[in-house]
Amino acid sequence: MTSLASLNKFTNDLKEQGSVMPVLFIGHGSPMNGIEDNEFSRNWVKMAKDIPIPTAVLVISAHWLSRGTAITAMDFPETIHDFGGFPQALFEVQYPAPGNALLARETATLIHSSAVVLSHDWGLDHGAWTVVRHMYPEANIPVLQLSIDYTKGPQYHYDLAKELYALRKKGVLIIGSGNMVHNLGMVAWDKINEPGFGYDWAIQMNETFKKLILHGDHQPLIHYEKFGAEGRLAIPTPEHYLPLLYALGLKTDKEEISFFNDKAVAGSLTMTSVKIG
Ligand code: ZN
Repeated sequence: MTSLASLNKFTNDLKEQGSVMPVLFIGHGSPMNGIEDNEFSRNWVKMAKDIPIPTAVLVISAHWLSRGTAITAMDFPETIHDFGGFPQALFEVQYPAPGNALLARETATLIHSSAVVLSHDWGLDHGAWTVVRHMYPEANIPVLQLSIDYTKGPQYHYDLAKELYALRKKGVLIIGSGNMVHNLGMVAWDKINEPGFGYDWAIQMNETFKKLILHGDHQPLIHYEKFGAEGRLAIPTPEHYLPLLYALGLKTDKEEISFFNDKAVAGSLTMTSVKIG
């Protein structure tokens, strides 16, 4: 349980720090990664140890789409089990990290491109908690979510992300959580337990994405609809891809890029994740 004393430390306004927090895009994949100790979740644990301890975590998850932009503003966000057909153990997971209402309000004021709604209805969906519970198992760091406005195009999301930059200077870890290549309709179910298997188009698009990310060439990534047939297979719907644009929008010119969990799964998904800074 989170003690009141440790919580109070977070209810004060966060102060600007000397360093800038890295930004992550994380391929979250199957909800089962939330309870499995596997190569992907182990790298999430490792990542949390490699970066500074954040003052708070802000997740842009593929699984919170809304009309307009909203941010979770409750003191104790509930753990949302937004999936079906998984073992009972996954439904029993609770991740009791606190929220941070003040930070939610502050973040809302940073965003000028949208009138951000303070949400008391959402919580932490599986795009957030399946990853963050591995990174911060003590659930003692406030976790917030920012929704994705499904009525807006990719450029809008990339630009909105830039408005969040000040949070990085206050030690907030911003995570875009989705999957760069994500086509559930083409999942090779017989290969689901063989990480590393990807269709040619999935591998090809994954390599294209990585090359552009490494070169800081974001325009083709924003205009992903121009990638053609392979692109449409990799991104049949935008919700798992857009969190990547949030991460890229937060990158400054000279920051380093590294990849982790760079692997295809079940043919039509990639877990490829990016660390910026
Ligand atoms: Zn997902």
